[in-house]
Amino acid sequence: MRVLILGGTGEAVALAAALVERRHVVTTSLAGRTREPRPVAGALRVGGFGGAEGLASYLLHEHIDVLVDATHPFASTISANAALAATRSRTRRLALHRPPWEPVPSDDWRTVPNGDAAARALPTGARALLALGRQHLAPFAVRSDVSFIVRAIEPFKPPFPATVLLSRPSADPATEAAMLRAYAVTHLVSRNSGGTGAYAKIAAARMLGLPVIVIGRPPAPPPPLVGSVAEAVEAIEAVSAEGTVL
Ligand code: NAP
Repeated sequence: MRVLILGGTGEAVALAAALVERRHVVTTSLAGRTREPRPVAGALRVGGFGGAEGLASYLLHEHIDVLVDATHPFASTISANAALAATRSRTRRLALHRPPWEPVPSDDWRTVPNGDAAARALPTGARALLALGRQHLAPFAVRSDVSFIVRAIEPFKPPFPATVLLSRPSADPATEAAMLRAYAVTHLVSRNSGGTGAYAKIAAARMLGLPVIVIGRPPAPPPPLVGSVAEAVEAIEAVSAEGTVL
């Protein structure tokens, strides 16, 4: 099977490895936002396709049997393009869409629909860690009554006064909790990305009893949807073995 994975997530990397191991011909596509992306099994292509039309042409030209949309749950444009392109090119499509995080009873979550609402939800005098990509910071500029800490992997100038914490998120809740304490954080602002990769900060906020402003997800891509790499492998193997329609 010739499989195109729309990537940019840990799940996409794991899926490529699993499919290559099963002898499928896999290409992973990245938007090109990261300077040094993680290595992937199989082939890699980088950059936009030129909308749904461009992606449909690519699928036909490359004789792709299955398109897997394994993009981040907040990357809604590419997911919409994937659905449209698959329909237009009559290519089988599967969305690997990890489930959102759910609060446990002791969590102090306030779920909001977007960044503007998250900015409004912070109380005066808060010290908020914005666990958000730099392209999502603008709504917080209006809150000059709040102190901000922004975590980033590469140095950058935030669009408003903020402490920049140069580090990668840790996968260890205790390390994240130590960071929240060291920066005297009173509120965490996070999108509901789901998955395990970015969860440690949510667990750390729980350990410290900190309130979390959770930005809810955009609508999920249209079905068929699976929630894990294992389910995606199973669905693709079923197509491969029996010609089952996804
Ligand atoms: P987006 O707004 O949904 O997509 C914008 C445009 O970027 C798309 O129209 C497409 O350009 C191009 N694009 C996006 N993903 C692509 C891919 N995998 N391969 C080729 N082109 C792609 O996406 P975004 O939110 O900017 O995210 C970009 C990438 O980063 C995604 O692949 C996503 O998985 C990853 N990512 C996103 C987030 C997030 O918070 N949004 C977090 C972690 C990782 P054309 O129309 O020209 O094809």
